[in-house]
Amino acid sequence: MPQPRNGFCPAYLLFLFLVIPLARVLALPTPVAIASASPTPALFSSQTLSQLKQLQRAALESDYAYRQVAHLANNIGPRLSGSAQAAKAVEYVARELEAIGCDVQLEKAMVPHWVRGEERAALVQFPGQAPNTTQRIVLCALGGTVATPKDGIEAEVLVVKNFDELKAMAREKVAGKIVLFNYPFDKQMAAEGRGMQAYGEAVVYRGQGPSAAARQGAVACLIRSVGSADYRLPHTGMTNYATDAPKIPAGAVTAEDADLIASLVRQGPVKMALVLTPQTLPEVESANVLADVKGSEYPEQVIIVSGHLDSWDLGTGAIDDGAGVAVSMEAANLIQKLHLKPKRTIRVIAWINEENGEAGSKQYAKDHEKEFSNHFAALETDGGAGHPIGVNIKARPEVKKMFSPVADILQESGAGILDLVEHCGADIEPLEKAGVPAFSPIQDSRFYFNYHHTPADTLDKIVPKELAENSAVVAVVAYALANMERPLPR
Ligand SMILES: [Zn+2]
Repeated sequence: MPQPRNGFCPAYLLFLFLVIPLARVLALPTPVAIASASPTPALFSSQTLSQLKQLQRAALESDYAYRQVAHLANNIGPRLSGSAQAAKAVEYVARELEAIGCDVQLEKAMVPHWVRGEERAALVQFPGQAPNTTQRIVLCALGGTVATPKDGIEAEVLVVKNFDELKAMAREKVAGKIVLFNYPFDKQMAAEGRGMQAYGEAVVYRGQGPSAAARQGAVACLIRSVGSADYRLPHTGMTNYATDAPKIPAGAVTAEDADLIASLVRQGPVKMALVLTPQTLPEVESANVLADVKGSEYPEQVIIVSGHLDSWDLGTGAIDDGAGVAVSMEAANLIQKLHLKPKRTIRVIAWINEENGEAGSKQYAKDHEKEFSNHFAALETDGGAGHPIGVNIKARPEVKKMFSPVADILQESGAGILDLVEHCGADIEPLEKAGVPAFSPIQDSRFYFNYHHTPADTLDKIVPKELAENSAVVAVVAYALANMERPLPR
């Protein structure tokens, strides 16, 4: 139906008398206000937005990240700090990033060199025991633990649920025993996609349990493995000795063995023989790998895109965190391959020693502290390789709104959620603390803790398509930050 040339069309009348007053009642900006030119220019130019889409498409089609993590996990293998494999990985990643045209630096960091020895345990006395038998207990040493005497420790096991239960006990009840913290990992929480929170709740026993037990005279400390699976796998990870307690040997038993011991202890005294023979060797010189794609307009402003190169020694470090390194390398690879010119410098970092000391991250903070005001933002991917549903943001709340054009693009692969969080990554924590806005992909955490820090952290746990989705999120967020028209608030 043609509109009358002079006078008001019915739609316009509706607009005047209904839409504008309604909008005022609802305290919304009126359509008239939206129509007038906004005084602030867009945060992302139309060229940047189209480049982001181009990057996203390329990431979803590329197998570069998968080939990188496959090499790290399968060809190099476990990469615990101080090991020959960790050194080889530093060299490999540096060479690969050089090959795609990045400006690569190795920045020296001294790292601990802890090596796992023999680790075995058996119940040697328990209710209902058949004569001349023992029961094998599946466990592993916790990272950084001291050794038992060569012939091991034989002592009664005391099972507690948590710190409160231990603290409520008289010292005489704990002294001379092997304390087992039987705090369960919340599998339901992980199943709901909140694996990181479930981990956070349980991992305090791995960190602080041994010193808490030692303060009350325990001779060794075991924890129930911090993880969600049911395949009798022990989960390793770092323990942290406090300075006010003697260092006692510390290990993690499988969830199944924790249940077994707890059940027997309810029936009567249980004695365990425990042998752990790890060694702490002298520190080793290692390095963070830094690879810059120089900014065309503000080369001094840096966006860090990172993962950690070291891994635990039981598996091959595919999901923790070969994947994080690989997707970070992919971001640089695609930017170079598509001949994109970021306005700010994109710096890929493969951190060393996240798992048992964070020496790499601490060293970077020491060496670059004076440049932190020029660190525009920092990303870290360290939650595996599961399907990403969005982006965590640790920054001023208004940053979330500023990023909504980017979220619209990320939604294309189902990653459009923006979530304000308190923390985005262990290695970028010194930057977070200095007020540098931080980002990380929100990854599917339902299965991550089945494998985390176990012998089953291997390449087959990575679905190539999901890894590529993570690459897309990381590349898009990194390039969006590099080309924003205004700085982020701090
Ligand atoms: Zn990790």
